[in-house]
Amino acid sequence: MQLQNKIREIQDFPQKGINFKDITTLLKDSNALKKMIDDLCEPLKDQKIDLVVGPESRGFIVGVPIAYLLNAGFVPVRKPGKLPAAIRKYEYELEYGTDSLEIHEDAITPGQRVVIVDDLLATGGTMKATAKLIEQLGGEVVSMQFLMELTFLNGRENLKGYPIRSLISYD
Ligand code: IMP
Repeated sequence: MQLQNKIREIQDFPQKGINFKDITTLLKDSNALKKMIDDLCEPLKDQKIDLVVGPESRGFIVGVPIAYLLNAGFVPVRKPGKLPAAIRKYEYELEYGTDSLEIHEDAITPGQRVVIVDDLLATGGTMKATAKLIEQLGGEVVSMQFLMELTFLNGRENLKGYPIRSLISYD
């Protein structure tokens, strides 16, 4: 089964010119869901991962089943104002303006081995911010795993030095 065939593409969503990759059509298919999670987990099994970190919101969907299979914990990285306890914040540049992400400051113990997962790598801004938050707390980013990658946006350039893997590439 080709996972790519299960992803629906929506033209001009959420704005004109964007060809949105909708994974709800993959998630509702039990075989495709299982294959996605199993394939993302495969290279991580021997890596002694302590924690899986997933950015809001599709990183939660992908991240929790991976953490479960790896016998690791899960930590959410969220948009501003959503986490209830003491946080660390990382602000990053967008094409117009800035955005920020937050993590609970007690989410990671220094030295823990962390994998970051998300549905899609575009410019890499989300991943870079997530990696910086993990490193601020003393975690080691062992790997970054994605279902999809938009290679033409050169996210890997933004994430030099981190091992990156994606199951599907859009050129
Ligand atoms: P980046 O920070 O530019 O790499 O964007 C990645 C983030 O944007 C991820 O958290 C994705 O969930 C989200 N994203 C961007 N484009 C799409 C898309 O076409 N489909 C689903 N998510 C997307």
